[in-house]
Amino acid sequence: MNTKRILVTGGAGFLGSHLCEKLAGQGHDVVCLDNYFTGRKKNVEHLIDLHNFELLRHDITMPVYVEVDQIYNLACPASPVHYQYNAVKTIKTSVMGAINVLGLAKRVKARVLQASTSEVYGDPHEHPQKETYWGNVNPIGIRSCYDEGKRVAETLFFDYHRQNNVDIRVMRIFNTYGPRMHPNDGRVVSNFIVQALKGEDITIYGDGSQTRSFCYADDLIDGMMRLMNTGNITGPVNIGNPGEFTIKQLAEAVIELTGSKSKIIYQPLPSDDPKQRQPDITLAKEKLGWEPKVPLKDGLIKTIGYFKDNME
Ligand code: NAD
Ligand code: UDP
Repeated sequence: MNTKRILVTGGAGFLGSHLCEKLAGQGHDVVCLDNYFTGRKKNVEHLIDLHNFELLRHDITMPVYVEVDQIYNLACPASPVHYQYNAVKTIKTSVMGAINVLGLAKRVKARVLQASTSEVYGDPHEHPQKETYWGNVNPIGIRSCYDEGKRVAETLFFDYHRQNNVDIRVMRIFNTYGPRMHPNDGRVVSNFIVQALKGEDITIYGDGSQTRSFCYADDLIDGMMRLMNTGNITGPVNIGNPGEFTIKQLAEAVIELTGSKSKIIYQPLPSDDPKQRQPDITLAKEKLGWEPKVPLKDGLIKTIGYFKDNME
């Protein structure tokens, strides 16, 4: 197999660590870059002794110089709690991070993949969301630092592609969950599982009728690597699981699968919280031969197992 030198920004995070593990397992030389804002060395500690894995403590808002063939740009806090903690820094990470990885890709002629998001669709008026939909995004709300930051990053990817011929891939990731999410991540799947395992109240924001479509990490990483390694496609390509559930259904599933005695409580819905979210994955099926394989129940069982073994 043709081994490559590959940079993964945000490599010590939830998704980044799964990607690094997969790439290193295939024999590639992996450079994992992270500033450990939401990522942890623990996520990649099992890779540290490998001859083909390196850790680089670096902030992607600053330029980076490494000779690589491919770049996966995942550096950015993904949970609303964490990306709103320092909103200005979140925008800098998305925008300056994109400029820095694109500049590097241009200089070393690397192919570069952007971990974009379903958040570019905002609170969508089209359902399910196709890649052609331009979205319904509030430019000045509490989610805007993330949503607009990711939208500008997409713009930069396409401008570097048109202007400088940079070989780009843009992937729009829909809600993804799995082992190695941080127990305090704040996103819904990890919150509910941790609450259920501790016997604490399960916090539904709003009335729980809002929907999300949850993709298991292994499926997502498979789609990401297929997109990176497919020729003649820039994206954007939606990668997610079209199975759509209300947040209340998710809470009930977690209670059932953990056998928890936790009660559901209702808290205010944060502003600009999208009402529904479901990917149209026709493009990924056609161009990448990809579709998710892990049903929600199976993925939740694996994730619950991880949290049982890893709760502080
Ligand atoms: P995560 O928070 O676990 O991972 C993000 C990683 O980026 C962390 O390790 C963090 O320390 C690092 N990071 C943040 N700012 C940085 C900076 N300035 N410099 C260097 N490193 C920095 O989140 P995740 O779920 O693994 O998300 C990974 C990527 O996928 C993100 O770009 C996110 O926006 C995108 N994404 C994820 C989802 C999802 O549901 N998991 C959905 C849509 C998009
Ligand atoms: N949510 C919830 N309880 C929680 C965390 C989140 O009800 O403890 C809701 C949140 O309001 C949103 C959905 O679950 O409607 C998904 O939230 P998450 O933060 O996981 O992702 P995003 O809103 O970015 O899709």
